[in-house]
Amino acid sequence: LDPEEFRRHAHQMVDFVADYYKGIESFPVRSEVKPGYLRPLLPDVAPEQAESLDSILEDVRSHILPGVTHWQSPNFYAYFPSNSSTAGYLGEMLSGAINIVGFHWLASPAATELEMLMLDWVGRLLNLPEAFLHTGGTGGGVIQGTASEAVLVALLAARQKWVAKLTQGGDISQSEALSKLVVYTSDQAHSCVQKACMVAGIEKKNWRFLKTSFDTNFAIDPAVFEEAVKKDLEAGLVPAFLCATVGTTSSTAIDPLKALGTITQEHGMWMHVDAAYAGPACICPELRHHLDGVELVDSFCMNAHKWMLTNFDCSLLWVKDSKPLLDALSLQPEYLRNAASEASLVVDFKDWQLPLGRRFRSLKLWLVMRLYGANGIRAYLRKHIQLAAEFEELVRADERYEVLVPRTFALLCFRAKPPAGDPDNGRTLNATLLENVNKTGKLFFTHTVLDGVYTLRFCVGNSRTEREHVLAAWDVINQEAEKLLKGSA
Ligand code: PLP
Repeated sequence: LDPEEFRRHAHQMVDFVADYYKGIESFPVRSEVKPGYLRPLLPDVAPEQAESLDSILEDVRSHILPGVTHWQSPNFYAYFPSNSSTAGYLGEMLSGAINIVGFHWLASPAATELEMLMLDWVGRLLNLPEAFLHTGGTGGGVIQGTASEAVLVALLAARQKWVAKLTQGGDISQSEALSKLVVYTSDQAHSCVQKACMVAGIEKKNWRFLKTSFDTNFAIDPAVFEEAVKKDLEAGLVPAFLCATVGTTSSTAIDPLKALGTITQEHGMWMHVDAAYAGPACICPELRHHLDGVELVDSFCMNAHKWMLTNFDCSLLWVKDSKPLLDALSLQPEYLRNAASEASLVVDFKDWQLPLGRRFRSLKLWLVMRLYGANGIRAYLRKHIQLAAEFEELVRADERYEVLVPRTFALLCFRAKPPAGDPDNGRTLNATLLENVNKTGKLFFTHTVLDGVYTLRFCVGNSRTEREHVLAAWDVINQEAEKLLKGSA
C-alpha cells in the first residue's frame, strides 16, 4: 500500500461517495433489476492486468448502483433502518485503515479496551445494572456482528450451563441432557431465535413459540409463558431459555420483562432480551421504562447499526455473568497463548463470540458517541419518533385507512381498510397498494402479517429523512390508493 497512491484514490472515492449521497434521491429506492442482471454485464473471469480506479468507478455507476436498494435514501421506510452517519462512516474508514484482527487483548490492546469502554458507555446510557458493565464485576459487553449472533451466543452459554448441571451426577449423557432443554420465545420473535435453536442443537419438538394476538398488542402474556413452563416440567423437560423482545420486527411489540423475568428466575432459566431495533431508543429517559425488568435478565442485545447512527455492523451484547459464555466458547490454542491472558489480567473477546478474528468496530461507535454526544443521539431518535407520530396523525385522519396496533417507536403498522365482506380481508388490496407504491421508486416500505391481517409497515429511521420526505411519501401512498380504490369501485 503506497501512502500517496492511497491518498489520491481515497480522495477520489470520498468524492464518489459524497456525490452518491448528494444524488441518492435520484435513484429508485428499491432496485428494479431482474434476478441474474449482473452476470452478462461483467467479464466471466478476473482481469489478468491491473485496471484503473476510474474504470472501476464507472462500472459501479453503470452496473452496480442500478442493482442497489438504497438503504441510505431518506425515502427508505422498509424493514428496520440500517443507519449510517458521517461519524459512523469515518469510524469504518479508520477501522479499515488500521485493519487489525483483534481476537485477544494482545492482538491490539486498544481494540479490546476501547470496546470495553464503549460497551460501558452505552450500557450506562441505557441505565443497565452495574453487573452488565465491565466495571461491575461479573459481566460486561461485547460487539457482535449481528443480533442473530448475539442470541446464538447467549443460547450457547445457557446450553452449556444447563448441560453441565444436568450431567453433574453422571446419571444422564450430554445428548440426553440436551434433548431435554426447552427454548421459549414469542410467535413474534425474529427468526434468528429459531436459527439459534437449529445451530445450538435444541430439538425442534422443544421450541415453544408462545401465541400472541391483538389482545396483548403482540406481547407475550406471562400467564401463557407460565403455563407452557408448567406443562414442560410435568413432561420431565427442562425449561432452559427465554428470548423476550423489546420491539418485535413486525410491530415493535414489547414483552413484559419484569413479569417474564420473575418466572425465569424462579426456574433458574436464562433470559435473553432482543432489543435489536428499539434498544437504542431506551437511552431517552422517557422511553427507558420499556427496559424495566432488565435487572432480572441474563443477556441483552441492541443494534447500534439499526438505529444509533453507526454503520453496519455493530450489534451490542451485554451479559450479566461472562462465565457461562467463557465456559461455552473459550479455547486456548498454544499459538495464541500469552502472559496477559494466562494471568487473567485481560478480556479476550475471541471467547465471547463464534469466530476468532474480529474487526476494530468500537472505533465507529466511539466516533458516533463523540461527534454527536448522547444528547445529539437522543435528538436524532426523538426526531424519527416525532416524524412517525406525524405520519400516524395523517393516517388516523383519513378514514380510508386504519392503524392496526398502537405505535411506540418510529414504526407505524396500518392498512387501507378493506371493503365490507372482502373475501381476503384486505390482503390483495394492501399488497397491491404496497407494490404499486414501491414500483414508483419514490419510496420503499414493506409489509408483515399480524394474526392473519396483512399489514403495511412504515418505519422512519434514516439519518437524512426530513418532514418533507414523510409528507411526500404520504402523498404517493394516497395517489396510488386513489387509483386502486377508483379501479375497484
Ligand atoms: N431481532 C430483531 C427484533 C430484529 O428486528 C432483527 C432484524 O430486523 C433481528 C433480530 C436480526 O438482526 P441482525 O441482522 O442484526 O441479526
